[in-house]
Amino acid sequence: MPVLQRKKKQGNKISLVTLLTGLVSISVALTVTILLISSYQSKKQALINTTLTLNHTSAIKMSHTIDSLIKSMRSSLDYSANLFSNPMSAEEGYSKLELIRHTNNYFNSITVVDETGLVRYVSPASIGTAGKYITTETAKEALAVKKPYISKPYLTVNTKRLIVLISEPIFDKDGIYRGVIAGTIYLHENNILNTIFGSNPTDELDSSFYIVGSDGHLLFHRDTRRIGEDISENQAVRKLIQGKSGYEQMVNLRGETVLSAYVKVPENGWGVVVVSPINVVYEQLNRHLASILLYMLAPFLLLMLVVIWLARRVARPFVSLADLVSKAGREEVQLSEGKQHWNREAELLTRAISYALTDMKKQTDQLAHDARTDPLTGLTNRRTFEATMQQWVEEQASFSVILMDLDRFKSINDNYGHQSGDEVLKHFAQIVSASLRSGDVCCRFGGEEFVALVSHASAEEAYQVAERIRHTLEVSTNPIGQTITVSQGIAHYPSHTDSAEDLLHLADVALYDAKRSGRNRTEIAKG
Ligand code: GH3
Ligand code: MG
Ligand code: MG
Repeated sequence: MPVLQRKKKQGNKISLVTLLTGLVSISVALTVTILLISSYQSKKQALINTTLTLNHTSAIKMSHTIDSLIKSMRSSLDYSANLFSNPMSAEEGYSKLELIRHTNNYFNSITVVDETGLVRYVSPASIGTAGKYITTETAKEALAVKKPYISKPYLTVNTKRLIVLISEPIFDKDGIYRGVIAGTIYLHENNILNTIFGSNPTDELDSSFYIVGSDGHLLFHRDTRRIGEDISENQAVRKLIQGKSGYEQMVNLRGETVLSAYVKVPENGWGVVVVSPINVVYEQLNRHLASILLYMLAPFLLLMLVVIWLARRVARPFVSLADLVSKAGREEVQLSEGKQHWNREAELLTRAISYALTDMKKQTDQLAHDARTDPLTGLTNRRTFEATMQQWVEEQASFSVILMDLDRFKSINDNYGHQSGDEVLKHFAQIVSASLRSGDVCCRFGGEEFVALVSHASAEEAYQVAERIRHTLEVSTNPIGQTITVSQGIAHYPSHTDSAEDLLHLADVALYDAKRSGRNRTEIAKG
C-alpha cells in the first residue's frame, strides 16, 4: 500500500469519496424528508376535505331520496285513506289493502283502524289484529292526532317487532273523522329502506352510512343488530337533533376519529349520516408517501453511483500525486507527461508539482554532482575516490593507485599567477582523464595532487599508464607555455598491501621517492 494511503488510514481522516457521498446522502435525505413532510401535511388536509365533501354529497343525495320516499309514502297513504272513507266488507277492505301494499311495496304492513280504535282491516292478515282494538300507545297517538303522523321506532305488543309507523287520517265525505290508515316499516326485516339503500353506494370510499330517527334512534345501519339503538349522544346525531346539517371531523361513540357528514331529511326530521374512519385518509397518505419514496429510489441510487464515481475520479489524481510526492525524495519518480486532468484544481496541482519536482530533481542532481566532483577540474573529489577504493577493496578486486603531484607548482603560481596555476590544473586533469579507461577513477586529491585508481591493473600496467600521463604532460602545449612535469608514485592492491590506508601511504612514499630522485618520474612502491 502506498505510504500516504497508509498514513491516511492511521490518522482516521475522512476520504473525499466518503465526504461527497455523505454530503449528497444528507442533502438528499433532508430534501426527501422536507418533501415528505410538506406533501404529508398538504395531502392529508386535501384528503380530509375531499372525503368530507364526498360524504356530504352522498348524505345530501340520500336525504333527497328519503325525502322523496316519505312524500311518496304519505301521498300513497293519503290516496288510500280516501278509498276507506266509506265502510265496506272485511274481505273488500282486506283485498284493497293487499293491493295497495303489493303495488308500491312501501310498507311491511298496512292497517285501517276506525275512530274507536278497532282494527278493521289489516294486510297481511297473518298479523291477526283484525277485529281487535289497538293497544300500543303509539297507535293510539296516531289515532288521536287526526292528522299525518310518523312515529318513533317502537316495539309492537304482540310480535315484538321494532317498527316505524306512518299514518294518514281518514275522513268521510262529510268530513267526519273515521280513523287512520297506517303503514309500518319493520326495521329489522326486509323493508323499503334496505331495498333502496341495501347496497352500500359509498363502499369504494370505505365509508358507511346510517339513518337516524328524529329522536336519535338508528332506523337503518349496515350492522342490522344496531337498528333501534339510541345514538343520540353521537356528535353528528346531536347536531341533527339540533336541526343542523354539515360535515366535520369528529370522534364517534367508540372514541374513533371519523369524518362525518350529516344531513337532515326535511320531510320527517330523520337524519342521514355518512361516515369514514380517519384511517382511510392515513392509508391513502401512506400509499402516496410510499409511492413518492419508490419513485425517488431509482434516481437517488443513480445519483449516488454518479457521485461515488465522480468523487473517485476527483480524488484519484490527488492520491496519486500525494503518493508520488511522498516517494520523490527516495526514488526516481515520473509524472505521466501530457496527461490532462478534466478537473481544473487537479490539473493546476499536477502542473505545480511537475515544476516543483523538476526543479527539485535539478537541484538534487546538482547537489549530488557537486558533492562528488571537484569544481575546478570537474574530476571526482577525494570523498568519492575513497568510497570507490573502499568498495574495490571490499570486492577484493585487483587495482593500482597512481598518486600524482605537479612539480614545482608553487613557482608556477608565483611566476604566472594563481589564475594560470588553475588553468594548468585543468589542463593536467584533461590529460589524466583522457589517459584512463572508462572503468578507472580519477580524482583531484587536493591542491596540485591527483590520484587515479586503475582497475584490474598490476603495478607495471599502472606504471605504463602513469608514464603515458607524465610524457603527455611534458610534451603538451600548456597554458603557461613552459614545460610542466609531474612526479608519480604507484602502489598495487593487494600485492603491496591489503589495507586501503596503507595503499595510499605506500603510493605517497613512492611519490616522495620520485620527488627526491629529481622529479618528473614515476616510482613503484617497494613491496
Ligand atoms: P614540489 O615539486 O616539491 O611538489 O613543489 P611544489 O611547489 O609543487 O610543492 P608545494 O607543496 O610546496 O606547493 C604546492 C603549491 O600549490 C602551493 C599552493 O599555492 C599551490 N596550490 C594548491 N592548490 C592550488 C589551487 O587550487 N590553485 C593554484 N593556482 N594553486 C594551488
Ligand atoms: Mg604538493
Ligand atoms: Mg608539487
